[in-house]
Amino acid sequence: MNQPIFGGIEIGGSETVCAIGSPPANILKEIIFPTSSPSETFTNILQFFKSQQSVYGRISALGIASFGPIDLNPQSQTYGYILSTPKSGWSGFDVITPLQKALDIPIILDTDVNGAALGEWLAGAGKGLHTILYITVGTGIGVGAILSGKIFHGSNHPEMGHIRVPHDPINDPFIGACPFHGDCLEGLASGHAMELRWLTKPENIPDNHPAWTLEAQYLAYATTNLILSFSPQRIILGGGVMRHAGLLNRIRRETTKLINDYGAIGEREISRILVEPMLGDRAGVCGAIGLAAQAI
Ligand code: ZN
Repeated sequence: MNQPIFGGIEIGGSETVCAIGSPPANILKEIIFPTSSPSETFTNILQFFKSQQSVYGRISALGIASFGPIDLNPQSQTYGYILSTPKSGWSGFDVITPLQKALDIPIILDTDVNGAALGEWLAGAGKGLHTILYITVGTGIGVGAILSGKIFHGSNHPEMGHIRVPHDPINDPFIGACPFHGDCLEGLASGHAMELRWLTKPENIPDNHPAWTLEAQYLAYATTNLILSFSPQRIILGGGVMRHAGLLNRIRRETTKLINDYGAIGEREISRILVEPMLGDRAGVCGAIGLAAQAI
């Protein structure tokens, strides 16, 4: 018998990735397009899966890893709905029903960052471990968690991108970019916040600019809080802002200073805990395919 084929969708704040394949990281076909309006995005998604089904045969199940906040409680009347979001047109949009109606297959939903954590856990930097976190630092900041071998949800899903970190308004007078909290972690350290503070995109900021010292400091507050909260074996740092060469090492140095050898967590341990992704931009969609495989 042929191996079942699964579909995976990562709906990110800026890009959507669709793929078909099988876990842990066997991708047969993949497409990436901007996450524009919900109707345009979902037209593109459906077109992709319908055309792939005509080539590879019926998809057994679909996994969706979506930006949030999103209702993940299957008992809820708004299960699968994007909750209040600044992303235009998406608040209250149901990401499951249009796909269920068109494809008529089991669908499993999780957050984009839990998808990326799952992808890296199945086939990347978290393989073989039991407790890992995945932080994406892009336009926004999100954190996915696999704790003791299970994707962590809590009552819905954590929003660790919005934790509070120390903000010294004299050293950094920027008031923060989060529409809900102002100077939370995402409000201070996301790519969007960097662009508003420095009036240029992060990829245009040179390495000797003070922006990177500040960025490493904020992200090190976050990694310190996460290490102390979860005792993770790995924290995988991905997303567009993390592509800046040298940022990961700066965060490792700052985290080492902040933890200050507490709990025998020194420089060597921190270099082992804080790592880059192995699957790159494919982590989310590999995780989405991993979610789909849980449906059968
Ligand atoms: Zn916030």
